[in-house]
Amino acid sequence: MRKSVLLCCCVVLAAGILLAQKTHVPKIDPQRLHDTVKYLSSDELEGRGTGQKGGDAAANWIAEQFKSHGLKPAGANGSYFQDVPMVGVRALPTTTFTFVPASGTPVELKNLDDYVTSNETQTESADVDAPIVFVGYGITSPENKWDDYKGYDLRGKVALLFVSEPESNDPNFFKGKALTYNGRWTYKFEETARRGAVGTLIIHRTDLASYPWEVVRNSWGGERSYLRLEGTPKLQAASWIQLEVARKLVAMGGLNLDNLYKQAQSRDFKPIELPVRLKAHVVSSIRPFASRNVLAMVEGSDTDHRRAEAVLYTAHYDHFGIDPARAKGDQIYHGAVDNGTGCGILLELARVWAGTKPAPPRSILFAAVTGEEQGLLGSDYLGKHLDQLPVQPILDLNYDALAPLGIPEEVEVSGAERTTFYSEVEKTAKEFGLAIKPDAHPEAGHYYRSDHFSLGRVGIPAFSISEGLKFKGHDLAWGEAQSKDYVENHYHKPADAFVESWDFTGDAKLAEFGYALGQAAATRSGEIKWLPGDEFEKAQMKLTSMDIDGAALFAGHPALLPVHVEPIAYPPLARQARLTGATQIKVFVAEDGSVERTDTITGHPLLLQALVDAVREWKFQPGDPREFILRCEFVVSGINTNDSRASTILVEPLYLRVAVHPGFIYETQSVARVSDNENGGGKGRKFRGPDRCYLIAVIPSSYFGQTPAVKLLTLEKPRRS
Ligand SMILES: [Zn+2]
Repeated sequence: MRKSVLLCCCVVLAAGILLAQKTHVPKIDPQRLHDTVKYLSSDELEGRGTGQKGGDAAANWIAEQFKSHGLKPAGANGSYFQDVPMVGVRALPTTTFTFVPASGTPVELKNLDDYVTSNETQTESADVDAPIVFVGYGITSPENKWDDYKGYDLRGKVALLFVSEPESNDPNFFKGKALTYNGRWTYKFEETARRGAVGTLIIHRTDLASYPWEVVRNSWGGERSYLRLEGTPKLQAASWIQLEVARKLVAMGGLNLDNLYKQAQSRDFKPIELPVRLKAHVVSSIRPFASRNVLAMVEGSDTDHRRAEAVLYTAHYDHFGIDPARAKGDQIYHGAVDNGTGCGILLELARVWAGTKPAPPRSILFAAVTGEEQGLLGSDYLGKHLDQLPVQPILDLNYDALAPLGIPEEVEVSGAERTTFYSEVEKTAKEFGLAIKPDAHPEAGHYYRSDHFSLGRVGIPAFSISEGLKFKGHDLAWGEAQSKDYVENHYHKPADAFVESWDFTGDAKLAEFGYALGQAAATRSGEIKWLPGDEFEKAQMKLTSMDIDGAALFAGHPALLPVHVEPIAYPPLARQARLTGATQIKVFVAEDGSVERTDTITGHPLLLQALVDAVREWKFQPGDPREFILRCEFVVSGINTNDSRASTILVEPLYLRVAVHPGFIYETQSVARVSDNENGGGKGRKFRGPDRCYLIAVIPSSYFGQTPAVKLLTLEKPRRS
């Protein structure tokens, strides 16, 4: 009975969507796309290498284009540029790696054949002499109730681990076959460094990495670029080792690698110290340089928010530059498809958005980013320095390498289905006659390999727009053959060069598609969110909370000198349910200044969780073990606004108040009765995901005593009729 009420609501909502007006989309000019791609991939720009003359010239040219289209600068000091400080690090052949067993003969490894390494701490020389610890996959993931470390102290040690993540066919456990960020090698280095490791050895297995050793060897054999250090913990020896080398290593400790692999599949896995040390002498050449992101904006009409919001479009402009070591005539990596095409689309979007009258409520921000081919460096810097932007991005739409092959009948938007924006994407795709193509190889983790990821990981809903394989006038096999030819003969090769006969009408169509999505995002009333339980949901919560003044919070408590005070987020569910209340916890600080544990004194579990999540990341100056009691009130105040950022007010030392606007929930929100027997009655708010319907149930105080309870229910998505 009650379920039918829900069904009715969803049908009404679906009808509302169908009646909505079709977006007016201005014409994107294929000829302009053609001209931009031709110029950016010409010899004159020398392959747009990061830190090279051609890359800098491309950035200047893009800024001029933004200016000529009438966009405002959105970079530093009224310019179109955001400086991105970088460092090139190359491991030199004098580097040595030796496995030293507790007893027996040391084994010296051969650079590039047996291992590759890079000194992320960016010093010319580093010496490692530390015990090797097998840590399984090296993953800590509360969403998946997984922790390979079990409190193990990795400080001063070398981690040995497998690339990828625990095997799964269950979509609710590490997303089934699809790779989550926990499986990427970048995560392994970040997590082990965060835990204080000095070096990490990733065991390369072709099937798990989805690419052969040659790829590792080629991309790690030369110079690697990094963002200049900003206090983030880094490894002195960030390394990969060959599978057979790993086999020998664990055998030196009397263990079997296949058995270790099996053990690593279990939730009960605990780190295993090997009776073997890594003795490494890492010698590197260090080359600091600066590169730039190019930023421009079209101002929105609504500046009422504390900080105006914006839809962000990104495309990387860099490619591999010039390689004088190659044969003459083949030295320039033109990067016509990758990513001349994305830049062409970005500039066309900039042009038509600048001419859009009236401007939408939210601003439109454009970022042509650098260093993508070096590991998403420009976008990484952008994502980590959102405070440098004049507006707050609420959605990132990225374009990366769209081969100009004619009119696509499919579109790829992987990652969009993980956000509350997906219904809009589906609707727009339909209007454009585009079928949404699912990710053909979710196990390869493509989501984590392009610039949108840098924004996604800091909490901004983000995805790339690209074409699928089915083009108008051709069968699927033709599209597949084109893609295969590109990957084998052009991708990341000098042969990714401009072809005069290319047909840019399809790229224009996908730019128009992106315009329509941008229009929807820039005008909608609700927020765009990562769906509940998504790996980036937490990051989005952090993004929407404000800094706390640590000195004021601990004023009068000389034993508590704060080093880092993580902001406290207002839990989205609590905000949506208008759940408020006081919390109190007791915090125990260890000698090294980290928070050892917290004890609950009082408060609603949902609010306490948010408080404890933040406080666990607080850091103090080292000293004797200390403890203190922290009070924190959660309040909802003010008028409805889309701004979900929580402001933290210091009431007095050790007493905080976290305040948030009640906000709209989602544009598809509605209120429904919750079944009595399931939830004790009360009202709920509902929103939809791609294949699920969520209901946030608010259970009245009479049922649970003092505080209203909140519960998130997942319901089957009703069929739209
Ligand atoms: Zn590329």
